Amino acid sequence: MHPELLIARFGELWLKGANRSQFTVRLTRNVKGALAAAGVHGAKLRVDEARLFVEPATPDDVPAAFAVLRETPGIANVSACVRVEKRLEALATTAAALARATWTEAPTTWVCRARRIDKAFPQNAPLIERTVAEQVGLAIGDAWKVDLRTPKRTMYVEVLREMACVAAWNEDGIGGLPVGTAGRTLLLLSGGLDSPVAGYLAQKRGCELEAVYFHSPPFIAEASREKVTALARILGTRQGGLALHVVHFTEIQEAIHTSCDPKLTVILYRRFMYRIADALADRRGALALCTGENLGQVASQTLENLSLVDRLAARMTLRPLMAFDKHETVAIAHRIGTYETSILPAEDCCTLFVPRHPAVRAPLSFVEHQESKLDVAGLVERALASTETVRT
Ligand code: ATP
Ligand code: MG
Repeated sequence: MHPELLIARFGELWLKGANRSQFTVRLTRNVKGALAAAGVHGAKLRVDEARLFVEPATPDDVPAAFAVLRETPGIANVSACVRVEKRLEALATTAAALARATWTEAPTTWVCRARRIDKAFPQNAPLIERTVAEQVGLAIGDAWKVDLRTPKRTMYVEVLREMACVAAWNEDGIGGLPVGTAGRTLLLLSGGLDSPVAGYLAQKRGCELEAVYFHSPPFIAEASREKVTALARILGTRQGGLALHVVHFTEIQEAIHTSCDPKLTVILYRRFMYRIADALADRRGALALCTGENLGQVASQTLENLSLVDRLAARMTLRPLMAFDKHETVAIAHRIGTYETSILPAEDCCTLFVPRHPAVRAPLSFVEHQESKLDVAGLVERALASTETVRT
């Protein structure tokens, strides 16, 4: 007995609003794209009864489709279901057989939960639960203990208007909102650990990403650019691809190195990044910037220095990692599959020509005085003109 149909339930928050249909349309599109990227073709998708139904072309595709749904923002939980005739006895028999076939590990705790959406169905949810639980209990044996609070396994029974089903395989999704429902955001993507995680967290709240990477050939090897492209590709799977803008940063870095106080190198690099990103965001219709910045004691990440970059952008900058410790960020990087790529050895332009002790606090007047030695507008203009865009 194999599950044939997946049911994804939405986060409760956005179910009731007026934007609901816009959200479900977007979610369906995102899931279609992610299924294709995962090599699952020919699945049927349908939104009904506040659920997304996904019916893969063959039961063999169920595990891959399940993994896609679990990782798609906007989905609260997923069940792999077997359709059953809308009759109490049939629900109980099928649930019992399914539990035996699916729960093959050492006995642990379980529970049966039922929902009756179709109020015309003669038995109510508590009665369905009791009847199904009794037969499942008999099938799996006494070593399996019912635990109402924190069960390891759940048998879901759903009586919907159009069908009924049982599911022995259920997992939480990542929640959040469908990518694209919050508007476009430009992610400053380096090859490091932090910025891909920041981008993912913004996607999880509905932001559709484009990314900008500042590249400094020949000082920074092509390997760094390839790393960033690989990270962009991973982020892109959640939104059907992603535009990566590669901006050539070499001229700016050399100009700063030649003309400005070395203590300000990092701050000046970052001020140029923000100016360029903001201009790109204008052209691309992005409502916000997003970075992997955090609060720490390095030069780029003190509140003083962050405020020196903040004032250069006409739009807000999302910094989703602001409240996270490093180990929390690392855990997310593992979960979303960016960790292995992020830790590959490669340099970032932020380390180029940087002195041992950069300024962790710098007065704006001093920063502006250093910048007055540069042709800021010309440097920004030429960097923007150098932009190459790749679609991942
Ligand atoms: P990450 O792990 O994301 O590289 P980090 O801890 O190394 O971050 P910084 O080097 O100070 O911290 O960079 C802070 C943020 O600035 C990054 O998270 C990223 O959003 C942006 N950034 C840094 N370097 C680049 C770059 N070369 N191209 C685009 N964005 C960059
Ligand atoms: Mg970095």
